Amino acid sequence: MTTSMESLRARVHGAVIERGDETYDEARKVYNAMIDRRPRVIVRPANAGDVSAAVNFARDNDLELAIRGGAHSVPGFGTVDEGVVIDFVSMRGVRVDPVSRTARAEGGATWADFNAATGAFGLATTGGIISTTGVSGLTLGGGIGYLARGAGLSCDNLISADVVTADGRFLVANEHENADLFWALRGGGGNFGVVVSMEFRLHPVGEIYGGPMLFELDAATDLLRFYREFIADAPEQFGGFPAFQIAPPLPFIPENRVGEPFALFVACWSGPLSEAEQALKPLREVAPTVAEHVGPMPYPALNAAFDGLVPPGLQHYWKANFVTELTDEAIAAHLQHGPRLPALNSTVHIYPINGACHRVAPDATAFAYRDANFATVIAGMWPDAAQNVENIKWVRDYYDATAPLSEEGGYVNFMAGDDQDRVRANYRDNYDRLVEVKKRYDPDNLFHLNQNIKP
Ligand SMILES: Cc1cc2nc3c(=O)[nH]c(=O)nc-3n(C[C@H](O)[C@H](O)[C@H](O)COP(=O)(O)OP(=O)(O)OC[C@H]3O[C@@H](n4cnc5c(N)ncnc54)[C@H](O)[C@@H]3O)c2cc1C
Repeated sequence: MTTSMESLRARVHGAVIERGDETYDEARKVYNAMIDRRPRVIVRPANAGDVSAAVNFARDNDLELAIRGGAHSVPGFGTVDEGVVIDFVSMRGVRVDPVSRTARAEGGATWADFNAATGAFGLATTGGIISTTGVSGLTLGGGIGYLARGAGLSCDNLISADVVTADGRFLVANEHENADLFWALRGGGGNFGVVVSMEFRLHPVGEIYGGPMLFELDAATDLLRFYREFIADAPEQFGGFPAFQIAPPLPFIPENRVGEPFALFVACWSGPLSEAEQALKPLREVAPTVAEHVGPMPYPALNAAFDGLVPPGLQHYWKANFVTELTDEAIAAHLQHGPRLPALNSTVHIYPINGACHRVAPDATAFAYRDANFATVIAGMWPDAAQNVENIKWVRDYYDATAPLSEEGGYVNFMAGDDQDRVRANYRDNYDRLVEVKKRYDPDNLFHLNQNIKP
C-alpha cells in the first residue's frame, strides 16, 4: 500500500517540507557539514500523531527513514537521500515537576532546553558536555556527561518514554509497560522506535564549581597518571575529565599561548561549594596551570561553556573506545597523538564512567560496559573541507594507536559511520537480547539509520 504526499500533508499538523519549498535547504542541514543529503520529505511533527503519520508514510512507500532530534549525529544518521526525515525541531518542550523531581522532554529538546527548564528549580540530570546536543539522541545511546559519576548515565535516569514503533503504534515504555522496549531504549540507540518524549529523574544541582584548566604538555603524562588513580575513588561529585586542546583566543588565555596545544582538564565539582577548592586540590598539586577559568557557576553555564568551540557547520570525523585500565602504554599513545591536534576545534576527551554508572548491572539496561572506567572520544572537528584528508588521518592514526590498548567496544554515540562492524562488540552479552527486542518491535529494520542492530 502506498500513501500519497497529499494524504501525508493532510494528516500532519506540523510542517511537511519538500524539494522546492523555500525552507528545504535550511531544513535538510545537519550539524556535521560533511553530510549533505537530499531527503524526499522532511516532516516536522507537532505531536505524536504526526510522528505516526510520517512513520506510516515511510514504511508504506518503502522509503528510508531518518530520525533527527538535536541533529548532532556525526555519521549523519539524522538525514537520508531520497527518504523521509522526522525532524523534531518543533517539539522541544520540557515540563518540570519540582515536587516529584522529574522532567518530561519532547523528542527535539536539546540539553540547553532541558537545563533552562530544570535549572530554574535547582535540578538537573546527566546530560552531555555541551548544550546543543539532543536529549533523545544522547540518552538513547547512554548519555555521558559531567554528572555521570554521581547520577549515572542519562539513560539511567530515564523513567519512561513515549514511543512510536515501526507499525505506527503509540506505546509507553517503562518498568511496567513494554519493559523489554524500555530496557533496549537505554543504550540501544534509535533502533527501536521514534521517541516522542522522555521522562527523567532529576537531582538537586545548584551551582557547580569548575571550568577549564590548561596545563603544559610536559605535565600531560603526570596529569593522566594522576587522573587514572584519583578518579578511581574520588568523591562522586567530582565529574571532570582530561583532554588535549589547542588554546582558543579567549580572554583568560595569555595571547602569546593562543594556538598552542595543551593538556586540558575540565573540572566539575557538584558537591557543596565550600568543599570545592579542597576537592580540586589534588589536581592542582599535579602541576601549575598555564591558564584557567575555574569558579562557581550554575550547572547550565558549564554545560554551555564550550558550545562556541563547536558551532554547527564544522566537518566531523570521530572514533571511540571504552577503556578499563588506562595503562602507561595507553598514556604514552595519547602523548604521541594528542598534542598533534590538527585543528582548533578538535579534541580528545577521556571521560570517567565509574561511580554510579558502575552500580547498574551490565544486563539491567542495553548499555553493557558497566565495568569500563573511561570512555575515550577522538573528536576530529575542523572548519574547512579542504583539510578533510589530514584531519581524518589524525583521528584514524590516533585510534589505531589506542584501540589495541582499549576495550573492543566503544560508546555508540561517539562512533563513526564506518564502525558498523563493531556494533555487536559495543553491546557484548546484551547483543542477542537486543536482536530479540528488535525483532519484536522493528522486524523489517525500518529504523536502520543508526549503529544498527539487525533483526
Ligand atoms: C559536539 C558534540 C558533542 C557531544 N558531546 C557528547 C557528550 O558529552 N556526551 C554524550 O553522551 N554524547 C555526546 N555527543 C554524542 C551525541 O550523544 C550523539 O551525537 C547523539 O546521537 C546526538 O543526538 P542528537 O539528537 O543531537 O542527534 P541526531 O542526529 O538528531 O540524532 C542521532 C540519532 O539518535 C536517534 N534519535 C535522535 N532523536 C531521536 C528520537 N526522538 N527518537 C528516536 N531516535 C532518535 C536517531 O537514531 C538519530 O539518527 C556529542 C556530539 C557532538 C557532535
